[in-house]
Amino acid sequence: MQRPYNFSAGPAAIPEEVLQRAAAEMLDWHGSGMSVMEMSHRGKEFLSIYEAAEAGLRSLLAVPQHFKILFMQGGGLAENAIVPLNLSRAAGVDFVVTGSWSQKSQKEARKYASEVNIVASGESSGFTTLPDPASWTPSVGASYLHICSNETINGIEFHELPDLKALGSDAPLVIDFSSHVASRPVDWSRVGLAFGGAQKNLGPAGLTIVVVREDLIGQALPACPSAFDYKLVAENHSMFNTPPTWGIYMAGLTFDWLARQSEGSARGIAAMELRNIAKAELLYGAIDNSDLYLNKVAANCRSRMNVPFFLRDESLNDAFLAGARERGLLQLKGHKSVGGMRASIYNAMPLAGVQALVDYLREFEKTRA
Ligand SMILES: *Cc1c(COP(=O)(O)O)cnc(C)c1O
Repeated sequence: MQRPYNFSAGPAAIPEEVLQRAAAEMLDWHGSGMSVMEMSHRGKEFLSIYEAAEAGLRSLLAVPQHFKILFMQGGGLAENAIVPLNLSRAAGVDFVVTGSWSQKSQKEARKYASEVNIVASGESSGFTTLPDPASWTPSVGASYLHICSNETINGIEFHELPDLKALGSDAPLVIDFSSHVASRPVDWSRVGLAFGGAQKNLGPAGLTIVVVREDLIGQALPACPSAFDYKLVAENHSMFNTPPTWGIYMAGLTFDWLARQSEGSARGIAAMELRNIAKAELLYGAIDNSDLYLNKVAANCRSRMNVPFFLRDESLNDAFLAGARERGLLQLKGHKSVGGMRASIYNAMPLAGVQALVDYLREFEKTRA
């Protein structure tokens, strides 16, 4: 039986091989007589799962040794508070607003930082363009500068991380990479901290990944909850409190799966990037070459992961979605704040799934012409 193609923005599709392995190991993990969900987080079985997951992520994303990898809970939204609680030193922080997620992040930071400066915004374009970093004016002495490197709702992606030093800023760059983590390499030389919920590209909801430069740890505000203090979490190897064990296990299986992917001579993340470029080109090409569909995002910042699009005749929306469901193309309805459609084509979506969607786009357009 072939499973349908799932275009959900998150929680999102998980590679079938990962689901199968989890199913096979569900009742008895490696002869332990236990499901991973039933194990003590301090027992040797789970510790081996945790260590393999951490090493897997470090190797996949080429995370340098001077960064800590933390497995936390609370999702991306909790990090909107946890980052300023740990990094703001109650001083000013900078934000670049490029869509719904960075907008939410800067609002939350106002609770903890003494000042929030919007150093650039794409709002006047209706969030269809990325403000050119050359035009940003970072403030002097800001504790950090936050961007959302892939705006899941607006379909906007930074294809190159900004070089803050070149803009005259010493502030560490904070990136919310929830919805494109592991889809492409990360230039860690430009990053101070990266965070992301796992439920888009790494596994089930409940796990949050934080990758943070060591020198930024240890400056939490007094009000920071202990369980969210990066120093305590790091010192305790993400086991200050019970970590999301199932999420860590599933992410570990996903890291294994990613490491085994290849495209030509490329392996792991490099292979995923090639595959993701091919998928995105196929889908944007079909949208741009049609008279029915429309994507409004500027070509240089279109997301490879989240592709929002509209039917020029919106009265056809329901028929479009019903026909898609019939063909096993699921969860294509757009975010309520944007409307229209959205196809999220994360790592777990094969090229064949995007091809099936493109075939359907053409077929639907023909029958409505
Ligand atoms: C999904 C998402 C979040 C929110 O994550 P939660 O786990 O729901 O808190 C944050 N940022 C981005 C970019 C996202 O795509």
